[in-house]
Amino acid sequence: MKTYEAQNVDYEVVIGLEVHAQLLTQSKMFCGCSADYAAASPNTHVCPICGGMPGVLPAINAYAVEATVMTALALGAQIPDFARFDRKNYPYPDLMKGYQISQYDHPLSLKGWLSIIVDGQEKFIGIRRVHLEEDTAKLVHGPGYSLVDMNRAGVPLMEIVSEPDIRSAEEARLYLVKLRQILIYLGVNTGNMEEGALRCDANISVRPVGHTELGVKTEVKNMNSFRAVKLALEYEAQRQIKLARAGTPILQETRGWVDAEGRTVSQRTKEYADDYRYFPEPDLPPLLLTREWVEQIRAKLPELPDAKLDRFLREYNLSLADAEVLTSERNMANWFEAAVLATRSLGPSPKSGFQVEPKAVANFVSGELFRLMKANDQTLDQVKVTPAGLAALLQMVAEGKISVSVAKPVFEEMNTTGKSAPEIVAAKGLTQISDADHLQEVADQVIANHSQAVADYRAGKEAALKFLVGQVMRATKGQGNPGVINTVLRERLKA
Ligand SMILES: [Zn+2]
Repeated sequence: MKTYEAQNVDYEVVIGLEVHAQLLTQSKMFCGCSADYAAASPNTHVCPICGGMPGVLPAINAYAVEATVMTALALGAQIPDFARFDRKNYPYPDLMKGYQISQYDHPLSLKGWLSIIVDGQEKFIGIRRVHLEEDTAKLVHGPGYSLVDMNRAGVPLMEIVSEPDIRSAEEARLYLVKLRQILIYLGVNTGNMEEGALRCDANISVRPVGHTELGVKTEVKNMNSFRAVKLALEYEAQRQIKLARAGTPILQETRGWVDAEGRTVSQRTKEYADDYRYFPEPDLPPLLLTREWVEQIRAKLPELPDAKLDRFLREYNLSLADAEVLTSERNMANWFEAAVLATRSLGPSPKSGFQVEPKAVANFVSGELFRLMKANDQTLDQVKVTPAGLAALLQMVAEGKISVSVAKPVFEEMNTTGKSAPEIVAAKGLTQISDADHLQEVADQVIANHSQAVADYRAGKEAALKFLVGQVMRATKGQGNPGVINTVLRERLKA
């Protein structure tokens, strides 16, 4: 009877995320070695300090502290007056000193938040702390041996710990997407999860709906993409609910996500914080964070994704979908905005009086630019068209010199050759045909060849006209002026 009841209980999932982000600094956290090791041969970015030799003294990377405080401020967190580094002691082959310099009870920041949109509703996820530590070396495992690469040892690593406010795998994914976007906006992290520059561990537990105490949690690791985070947490939630319903105790342990098998597996039972024997790092001074210094950093904060999104909606009259796509990355948002400002500086077309709308720029960026970048595997830095170049192209459309359908291949050629829109249009003779006499000839030809569509139009089917316009467009290789074609066709079909 008891089991039957347990099986009918609804469970709620409770998730907290620990995100580790490598900071984009020039040098490592406590020594002068280059932190840019991605393309380096193993063990070439090492010195006695990050190599863990005895008798050496670490020195704090000031920029790493600044980047961490900036991130904390972007997450609405509080910056205490006093912070310090502590030693986290544990023996492991990837830990050169036998301890990691981290932060324990006096981190650089506490109590922030981040908002996500869940089913159209804004939800706030608490941030418990943002602190600074050093990355470990990297172990490379082969058949029967393991190699150690110290290039990563001592790279500045920021840890962002959320409160257990996340209630589903999808919320966890949304939180991570948003956090990554903010880190990239701040320029403090590459956001590259595959290469391990951004890593996510999750604490997850389940409890009967309505209960307030937390269940026994497991820690899930090895999630190297947004997709993996979602799948791993969905799997782990279901695994725990199944155990809970069967009355089997859930073990506090660390579990690894095995992507190929689509499941989590037990790695080790969880060590407790006491096991690390934290104590203040005796070789480093404590950090006294003056309000003046904190305010100087706050003043350097760039416009953040939510603020930019709101402003784009307000100033450029974009749809929410367009504004979201265009603000997803800071450099893309800047490119779009530069193009809009360039169209404004060109002013309304002297001929038509028509000003290029931000919406037209948005369409071209989210349509053509995104398509070309994907097709050519280009980053925005590699794109040859400048924002001003796109503005000049759209101005030609506004002035009626070329049609929108011609503008697309011209844009593609601008990206391939780096030439300007007027150059390409002149060289290829792509100027729009607005000459009514010429278009009339073409229209007559189309009418003669498509008697069915003509009959349909005359029988009242407006859609048939669209088809005939398309045929004239095709015959003029996209250079016909759609407005003139429309007028000409209507007149000829009346006859
Ligand atoms: Zn070093």
